Amino acid sequence: MVAATDAGALGLYIHIPFCGAICAYCNFNRGLHDGTLAARYVEALERDIRQQADQARADTVYFGGGTPSLLPPEDIGRVIAACRESFTLADDAEITLETNPETVTVERMEAYRAAGVNRISMGAQSFRDEELKRLGRVHDAARIREAFARTRQAGFDNISLDLMMWLPQQTIHDWMESIDGLLELGPEHASIYLLELYPNAPLREDMARAGWSQAPEDDAADMYLRGFERLDAAGYRQYEISNVARDGRESRHNLKYWRDGEWMAFGCGAHGTRDGRRWRVVSGTEDYILRIQAGTSTAAETRILSDEERLEEMLFTGLRLSEGLPLMEIQAKFGVDVWDRYGRGLAPFVKAGVLRHEPSVRLQLTREGMLLANEVCSVFV
Ligand code: SF4
Repeated sequence: MVAATDAGALGLYIHIPFCGAICAYCNFNRGLHDGTLAARYVEALERDIRQQADQARADTVYFGGGTPSLLPPEDIGRVIAACRESFTLADDAEITLETNPETVTVERMEAYRAAGVNRISMGAQSFRDEELKRLGRVHDAARIREAFARTRQAGFDNISLDLMMWLPQQTIHDWMESIDGLLELGPEHASIYLLELYPNAPLREDMARAGWSQAPEDDAADMYLRGFERLDAAGYRQYEISNVARDGRESRHNLKYWRDGEWMAFGCGAHGTRDGRRWRVVSGTEDYILRIQAGTSTAAETRILSDEERLEEMLFTGLRLSEGLPLMEIQAKFGVDVWDRYGRGLAPFVKAGVLRHEPSVRLQLTREGMLLANEVCSVFV
């Protein structure tokens, strides 16, 4: 069973847009770290959180980036304190900090723990040095192992590692080496992402110049299936297309995204959803700070979601979960019988064995079906 979550409680997402170096494939909202700008940014974040205080219940805080672990622990502590003052944060709230291996020391991790962080999500990406170099990462595999050991030493018992698959020049054998590297460390949770090459990524040029290529798509499918099989065999349970966890160690924050939950968003480029409203915060760091200082809205875009849009979103995100779409819950929430409405389009996928349909109970992708999630979801559009 996936961890039970408090469906009514909010998540608090906090974006930290600073990085020590920019990776060749990165398409996130981030820039190079600058201590003075970061100090002004943290002040703005605190103000933003306090301005939106309403004491609503919250049970997760997630520092995403960027590289949040570039911020000193005192700053992370100040932001957590602002969250505690402004929302009713559960005693057992999950408080995650995204971390890159090169920023980790025992003292620093101990200080994050003392500040209230209780979950670390570390961007390992690969356990092969040449792959890390091609991606423009500044750490190597030895540094991941060291950082993981230091994080444990600092007392963290809830660590997630990210790995990336389908990297330039990566073979299935190479990929399985990274899976084994992860298993040796034994994190509580792992996220497996497929490398996406966006149009202007410097990595595209690097690949063209060096003559690197990605394995054929069939091999990528094999990497996915074999990687997850090995994780299964090691006792992890896949609970989402890209995520596995030990029992009860699923990311409670991310589950809100996939289970029609609600979350607040603080910091530049962050997205929030609450009371049927979806908003996006302005993406510029300086723009965000100036708006907070001037007391003007930081929203670049706000939309009221119609029931149809919410339904569509729940179908898209819910199908990503291994537990599948809860058909009764959707019927109760939106008054829609999913099979009545979409059954004709979905039936061929059921027949092909990539989608399971338990009438009135659930609709669930098989693992092979997860590779076809986009095709299956196109039925909902
Ligand atoms: S560390 Fe992450 S956010 Fe920063 S540049 Fe690299 S991929 Fe992008």
